Amino acid sequence: MSFQNPVFIPGPTNMPEVIRQACYMPTIDHRSPVFGGILHPCLEGVKRVLKATDAEVFIFPSTGTGGWEVALSNTLSAGDGVLAARNGMFSHRWIDMCQRHGLKVQIVETPWGEGIPAERYEEILRADTSHSIKAVLATHNETATGVRSDIAAVRRAIDAAKHPAMLFVDGVSSIGSMDFRMDDWGVDVAVTGSQKGFMLPAGLAIVGFSPRALAATKTATLPRTFFDIADMAKGYANNAYPYTPPVGLMNGLKKSLEIIEAEGLEAVFARHTRIATGVRHAVQAWGLTLCAARPDLYSDTVSAIRTPEGFNATEIVTKAARDYGMAFGVGLGEVAGKVFRIGHLGSLTDAMMLSGLATAEMVMVDLGLNITLGSGVAAAQAYYRHGKA
Ligand SMILES: *Cc1c(COP(=O)(O)O)cnc(C)c1O
Repeated sequence: MSFQNPVFIPGPTNMPEVIRQACYMPTIDHRSPVFGGILHPCLEGVKRVLKATDAEVFIFPSTGTGGWEVALSNTLSAGDGVLAARNGMFSHRWIDMCQRHGLKVQIVETPWGEGIPAERYEEILRADTSHSIKAVLATHNETATGVRSDIAAVRRAIDAAKHPAMLFVDGVSSIGSMDFRMDDWGVDVAVTGSQKGFMLPAGLAIVGFSPRALAATKTATLPRTFFDIADMAKGYANNAYPYTPPVGLMNGLKKSLEIIEAEGLEAVFARHTRIATGVRHAVQAWGLTLCAARPDLYSDTVSAIRTPEGFNATEIVTKAARDYGMAFGVGLGEVAGKVFRIGHLGSLTDAMMLSGLATAEMVMVDLGLNITLGSGVAAAQAYYRHGKA
């Protein structure tokens, strides 16, 4: 018999059986009204998850990385200025993509473990009196470090500087798991993918464009074909795509939105906060610390846990996979070998989380770390249990 443990990587996440079944579909004519019955509920549901009223949603066969490219190539022109903080692997890669597109990126180097420095953004925007900066990038949840940044503060910084730059937010590991407010935060392009909060396989880039971002596409000259949102919008008007849509995945997304909304968006966020808080109690009981520098930065979808100096954190991940059949995330980039990551997003319960914490503990004890078996689990149990006095 083959037993499958839940995964504790920050995407792809565990798939509920109902979503798997929804993805597993017979062939349909993707230019028929049947497809419209999948497409439109997806577009409407994503809009509600983004808390957006006037935005338009586009769903491309791609991944979150493709979503970054949708954002850039539809709104900007070569030579345009972009402002971005580099505080982890994902913000780093988005910056790299901007540079490869011929954009001029003003990079705010930020310690890994810190959030986006909104005050620094404000200073830079105030100094940019010629308005050469066209877009401000913000990675809402840096999956490499387990850091959540304050997007409302980034919006306030742009407004305080009276700067017209658009705000593009990578919400790949936050949207659908942590509160995201496209309207309230004045987000112009929101980017996510299918395999994190939406509990699907990888394969969809999901983006929301504000009216301002839509207007910017009229003058943007970066080359785009596959990722052209104007072509996509024309297709949608006819219940179709400019090419062949991944119908099964989209049917899965429709189901995912149904189960998220049946639980209730705020209840989904509260569940993520609760599970994450239990993980943080366990980390504290182990005598370890998070990569995230302060509690206000703690992510509710992933914890990057520092291991003692001289210990290779990647060994935890390797041993967990080999000896216990359980997946955790390795450290990336600057924090490779220094942290291991516990992903706690998507389809997850308190009890599932306890199994992950119990396994992490066994692995760390096996590897000789000074940790008491059961200490982290007990701390999480004390937090998760009902009937508190
Ligand atoms: C996973 C992730 C990405 C990349 O998404 P892919 O689907 O792997 O292309 C981008 N940004 C963040 C914050 C992520 O967590």
